[in-house]
Amino acid sequence: MGFMNLFKHFLGDDWGVHPDDHKRPAADQPVRVMPVPARLYLPLQQHLGGPARPIVLVGQKVKKGELIAEAQGMVSAPIHAPTSGTVAAVTEITAPHPSGLTLPAIILDADGADEWIELHGCDDPFALDPAEIGKRVASAGVVGLGGAAFPSAVKLIGASKAKVTTLVMNGGECEPYLSCDDRLMRDAAAGIVDGIRIMLHATGAKVALVGIEDNKPEAIVAMQAAAAGFDSVQIRPVPARYPMGSEKQLIQVLTGIEVPADGRPADIGVIVHNVGTALALRTAVRDGKPLISRLVTVNGNCASQPGNIEVRVGTLAEEVIAFAGGLKGDGLGLARRVMGGPMMGMQIPHWRVPVVKGTSGILAFDTVEVAEQEPNPCIRCGSCVKACPMGLLPLEMSSRIRNEAYGEAIDLGLKDCIACGCCAYVCPSKIPLVQYFVHAKGELAAQDRAKLRGDATKKLALQRQERLEREAREKAEANAKRKAEREAAAAAKAAAEAAAKAETQGESA
Ligand code: SF4
Ligand code: SF4
Repeated sequence: MGFMNLFKHFLGDDWGVHPDDHKRPAADQPVRVMPVPARLYLPLQQHLGGPARPIVLVGQKVKKGELIAEAQGMVSAPIHAPTSGTVAAVTEITAPHPSGLTLPAIILDADGADEWIELHGCDDPFALDPAEIGKRVASAGVVGLGGAAFPSAVKLIGASKAKVTTLVMNGGECEPYLSCDDRLMRDAAAGIVDGIRIMLHATGAKVALVGIEDNKPEAIVAMQAAAAGFDSVQIRPVPARYPMGSEKQLIQVLTGIEVPADGRPADIGVIVHNVGTALALRTAVRDGKPLISRLVTVNGNCASQPGNIEVRVGTLAEEVIAFAGGLKGDGLGLARRVMGGPMMGMQIPHWRVPVVKGTSGILAFDTVEVAEQEPNPCIRCGSCVKACPMGLLPLEMSSRIRNEAYGEAIDLGLKDCIACGCCAYVCPSKIPLVQYFVHAKGELAAQDRAKLRGDATKKLALQRQERLEREAREKAEANAKRKAEREAAAAAKAAAEAAAKAETQGESA
């Protein structure tokens, strides 16, 4: 048993935190469908893995659902036009990230017709070969809609190869303020269950366990009704606790099996998908429609009308907020803008940032919600240790990171940190613990990349040296061969001349 697991054993099940969930009244409002905005901003990196590569030119007309950027590499996802229109630019826009840095993107001007390309759906997905389902999901650009945005086809194909037995469906939505999954399960339970059954067929898993936090009773009832008659789809209410929706926690609660510290769910025969992803997958396979829109929760004390809105991917957050009813007091009390949930989402510098495939929420917080305070010294209360769902020692790790002793932080389990923010949430001294861990992981990743670059440069230099030596050797050998040939030819010529001379002299005598 490793250090981390030993500590976890000591902790028992008392992990995580119980923040006020702030999900209602947003969760109880009917979904509103936002009209297509005049202009859409589509980052090429909306998923984990390699960015998509644009295949359209400025001025080109495209239809709704048309491929505009293709996947690159093993882990990537294509991007499709969310509506019909004209490509206005292939340029840089602000990333949905606190840095305010830019990302390459395609800008599309809508033509108002919203005209689909020709669609190729399938009436009976269960008659399709699992590999064909993976292909359709990949070409539809479906990614995990819970926030991580991992390309779904890569997971499906990997699961089928790894022979997983259990599909864990994440309907936890443990982040406070968010309710898009809750709303989807209430309104589209039959479609989600159909998507889950297609996932079972595609992966070869025998059973799907759908974990839904018990603070979503309406969703539980709707999903139970939709799954009735399908023994392979089991709806399992789980206690509301953050971060219940984290992959490893949900697997452990639903299956009783712990994913090894350095392992993946597939190592224990499990694959995890989000409930929203199941619906997107169903739409891709049955209707042939790519992923071009999603449900987004608008919430926070500054939001005039909290609720869930169906939004085209590429719509600016400022337009979503305006459609949702704007900000109270014209945003005068606004203290923080967040995309995603308050615990694991991203603070953004302004609202001119687009909704991407992984955007679950747009949150407008006032000062009360942010409750910003200056950090104080650690009082060694141990609250962060108690809250950590991974059984880590946040206070010890952060002190190592402050001293740049990254190796020691790794020994304490830094790589197991899922950046859930529970430790920072409970810390009475308001120490930004999770920021230390995210920063340290970034530093380590940069060091790894620098090492890889250094190794690659060394390898290239070695290869060049070997090539130069080989060329010099081959040149010398060719020269020696030519010299030997010249000498042999000269010797043969001399011999022939000597023979001819001897013959001439013989005839004269
Ligand atoms: S952010 Fe990391 S260290 Fe903090 S509670 Fe979550 S997993 Fe534990
Ligand atoms: S919760 Fe904060 S104050 Fe308490 S031990 Fe952890 S870092 Fe220190």
